[in-house]
Amino acid sequence: MVTGAGRGIGKAIAENLAAKGVKLICVSKNPASCGGVADAITAAGGNAVARAVDVSSSSEVEAAAAELIKEFGPIDILVNNAGITRDGLLARMSDEDWDAVIQTNLSSAFYWTKAIGWPMCRSRWGRIVNISSVSGIMGNAGQANYSAAKAGLIGFTKTVAKEFARRNVTANVVAPGFIQTDMTADLSEEVQKGVTNFIPMRRFGQSDDIAHAPSFLCSEEASYITGQVFTVDGGMAM
Ligand code: NAD
Repeated sequence: MVTGAGRGIGKAIAENLAAKGVKLICVSKNPASCGGVADAITAAGGNAVARAVDVSSSSEVEAAAAELIKEFGPIDILVNNAGITRDGLLARMSDEDWDAVIQTNLSSAFYWTKAIGWPMCRSRWGRIVNISSVSGIMGNAGQANYSAAKAGLIGFTKTVAKEFARRNVTANVVAPGFIQTDMTADLSEEVQKGVTNFIPMRRFGQSDDIAHAPSFLCSEEASYITGQVFTVDGGMAM
C-alpha cells in the first residue's frame, strides 16, 4: 500500500513497485487521482486498486485498514508517503497550519502503522517505508511544522524498527531533497534558484529518482536493513 499515490513521488513509487510485480493499493485523499493511477497500472499489466482515505483522520484510517485487511489479507508493504506543506515563518504560523501538517505528515504514519503493522508482524514478513525530507534532517526556515513532522517520522521509524525487528518486519526512512512535483511547483523562481545552489548536483530531482529507494527497501535483498535513513537529494544533506 502506498499513501499519497495520486501524483508526484507517491505515484512514481506505486508504479515502480507495480513494475516489480507488487500488487498495489493506491491511497489518496482524491478518489479520481488514486483511481487514475491504479487504472493506469492495471492497464499496463499490473495489479492495483484505489482507496480514497484522508490519512490525517485516525477513524478513517482505522476503518479503511480493517476493510482492506478483510478484503485482501495482511498488507505486507506500507509506504507512508502522503504529505502536505503549509509554509510560513514561525512568528506567523497559525495553530491550524501546525496541526494540519503534523496530522497529515506524522500522525498518519502512526495511524497506518498501528492498524496494519500488527497483522504484518503476525504474518512474519513486512516492509514499512516512511517518506521524510531533508527538511527533517537539516531544518528549513519557513517550515517549522513540516521539519518537525519529518524529523518526528525519523524517530518514529527507528522505534518501529526496534519493536518489529524480531518479526521480520523492517522500517526505514527515505528522505528526498528538492524534487520537481506539484508540491514544489509553487516555489518562486528566485527560491528555486537559491535552493539549487545548495544542491551539489545543481538540479532538483525527479519523482523517479526517489522511487527506486523505497522499492529496494521493500525487496527481499533489503531484509537486513532496518531503522535507517536514506537521503536521495543530489548530495544536499551531507
Ligand atoms: P504532492 O503534493 O505532489 O503529492 C502528495 C500526495 O499526498 C497527493 O496524492 C495528495 O492527494 C496526498 N495527500 C495529501 N494529503 C492527504 C491526506 N490528508 N490524505 C490522503 N492523501 C493525502 O507531493 P510530493 O512532492 O509527491 O510529496 C510526496 C511526499 O514526499 C510527501 O510526504 C512530501 O512531504 C515528501 N517530500 C517531497 C519533496 C519534494 O520536493 N517534492 C521533498 C521532500 C519530501
